[in-house]
Amino acid sequence: MPPPTLGRVTTRELADRYGRVATDLRVSLTDRCNLRCSYCMPAEGLDWLPDDTVLTDDEVVRLIDIGVRLLGIREVRFTGGEPLVRRGLVDIVSRTRAAGPDLEISLTTNALGLARNAQALKDAGLDRVNVSLDSIRRETFAEITRRDRMDDVLAGLAAAKAAGLGPVKVNAVLLRGLNDDQGPELLRWAIAEGYDLRFIEQMPLDAQHHWRRTEMIVAEEILAGLEAEFTLEPAREPRGSAPAELFLVDGGPATVGVIASVTRPFCGDCDRVRLTADGQVRNCLFAREESDLRTALRDGATDEEIADRWVVAMLGKRPGHGIDDPTFLQPDRPMSAIGG
Ligand code: SAM
Ligand code: SF4
Repeated sequence: MPPPTLGRVTTRELADRYGRVATDLRVSLTDRCNLRCSYCMPAEGLDWLPDDTVLTDDEVVRLIDIGVRLLGIREVRFTGGEPLVRRGLVDIVSRTRAAGPDLEISLTTNALGLARNAQALKDAGLDRVNVSLDSIRRETFAEITRRDRMDDVLAGLAAAKAAGLGPVKVNAVLLRGLNDDQGPELLRWAIAEGYDLRFIEQMPLDAQHHWRRTEMIVAEEILAGLEAEFTLEPAREPRGSAPAELFLVDGGPATVGVIASVTRPFCGDCDRVRLTADGQVRNCLFAREESDLRTALRDGATDEEIADRWVVAMLGKRPGHGIDDPTFLQPDRPMSAIGG
């Protein structure tokens, strides 16, 4: 039975009640990962999604096709967990490219194994990668991720650049007492290697619920650390729906970005919608409700019916994440299961 509100759906945009329209689809391909970043997962990992609840490659591609053909999706980013551990990734990318020749297709990854796959992903139609790397000191990397794999990440980054998956972006999270003094050296390294570095404020999305507002490194502190060694000036105004505030470094052309999701939220310009690996639509990273497309899909719903459900799912999108609100509740699912 379709939900009763469907009769009132007249538009096939993914619009919410606050005038925002989602055109950027984040697709989580798995909740599993081969690292254990302390701000994301506990050392022992998590209870992974049961295999039969995870969308098959065909199901993922069908939902993306519906998003592109019927709902105005213009960008698709694959994420996870770690999307490179999904066996069908190259095939999913190539079928996504077939579904949307003009789509912008990107991948957020820890880059383990990217050295082997970068060229195949490029050939399949991937445009760009974002690689997560919080330190270029081997010991710090191993301490944060609980795995001694920094060399694989660096090899993955180099392969991505060589394959033309650029501009290659590097995402870093600074953590108090671990790497909070390493911002400038990360930036110096990124500029020398030709990667676009962006710092992300730590968000309350860890499975362990260890995040504390008073402990996190805020954008202001990140910028102060960088400004001790570099001159920064705003590189663009306004930032629009792009979450990163960009700064020219020492007059440019190099830039550095800061994604201040907590202290300078950009919810008012959000154009994103998320699909979890088990086929649930989330209208926000911090949403407390999900809409089940997997069951509809497996029960034989038509493309039109699925599109209608997706439209309805957006209507409950809240105006903001409310992290600073005393009533804020962390979502039940951690970042790795939502798709970061
Ligand atoms: N495994 C891939 C990776 O690490 O890039 C993709 C998934 S990961 C959840 C996506 C991004 O979320 C990474 O850049 C990671 O640093 C970031 N992330 C994870 N937990 C976070 C948190 N609590 N706060 C801020 N960023 C977080
Ligand atoms: Fe894995 Fe990415 Fe989470 Fe690190 S941030 S544990 S690489 S999913």
